Amino acid sequence: MKKLILATPRGFCAGVDRAIHVVEKAVEKFGTPIYVRHEIVHNKFVVETLKSKGVVFVDELNQVPEGSVVIFSAHGVAESIYEEAESRHLKVLDASCPLVLKVHFSAKRHFNAGRHIILIGHAGHAEVIGTLGQLPEGAITLIRNEADAEMVQVPEDKELAYITQTTLSVAETRKIIDALKKRFPHIIGPEAGDLCYATGNRQAAVLELCSKVDMLLVVGAKNSSNSSRLMELGLEQGLPSHLIADVNDLDMSWFNGVETVGLSSGASAPEVLVQGVVDFLKAKVKGLQVENLVKLVENTKFNLPKTLQD
Ligand code: SF4
Repeated sequence: MKKLILATPRGFCAGVDRAIHVVEKAVEKFGTPIYVRHEIVHNKFVVETLKSKGVVFVDELNQVPEGSVVIFSAHGVAESIYEEAESRHLKVLDASCPLVLKVHFSAKRHFNAGRHIILIGHAGHAEVIGTLGQLPEGAITLIRNEADAEMVQVPEDKELAYITQTTLSVAETRKIIDALKKRFPHIIGPEAGDLCYATGNRQAAVLELCSKVDMLLVVGAKNSSNSSRLMELGLEQGLPSHLIADVNDLDMSWFNGVETVGLSSGASAPEVLVQGVVDFLKAKVKGLQVENLVKLVENTKFNLPKTLQD
């Protein structure tokens, strides 16, 4: 191995940055314990760091003592979760990403206009559970891929709309939307789906990186949707590609016969983990060249909830 090229942009998006700041500010303002429902973002390192500061992560709200402060994760939650929190007199700080809330808003707008909604996304992902939970059961049909789009059964007496998870593959989503439009020419929805800026930018940067490297490494959690999509993009480009939680997941046999390695990270992966990989490889490979391939510079920022603003 001679060269390591890092993709930019990579790592934290504005939604993840905001969610982590919400937790840190809440600890400062309210003291501990502070409760967070589910992983605040899909990254073990982030979760463990916050745990060490006195943050308690729970699966369900019934694990949170009445009257406590509870934070909802960046992925968004179902309406029933807000209701449960209110009934248990919990003080809610909502770290749901504004771009996920925008999708929730679209779902409600279509529902109120009498449309049936098709959600393109991955069953079981926290964001999808939250989006499905915005509306009564049966109002949204979840599909995952082109084959689903070709077979999905929808009410015949209703107009149709589609919405998407924010962290899907740009190319795959395009194909699924095209398949839906072919079957249902009057269906309405955003041209490129509801994929967020961070998803699109990280995939564009990795796509460019793939043309310059022999192998792709992506730092991110296995349950992080956008990180997995980055790794899959490498595979689709014909490169050996590996999703690693951190430097400890590296297998040096991967580097046999490889000259140039590309490195990126998912929107929930802290830069310190990327730098851990860079430092390790620099120490292993004498004279390793390290370059940064800048596709574009992001400057999106989201405000904290009002109660946490100084
Ligand atoms: Fe928001 Fe996109 Fe980041 Fe998800 S990946 S938290 S939608 S900015």
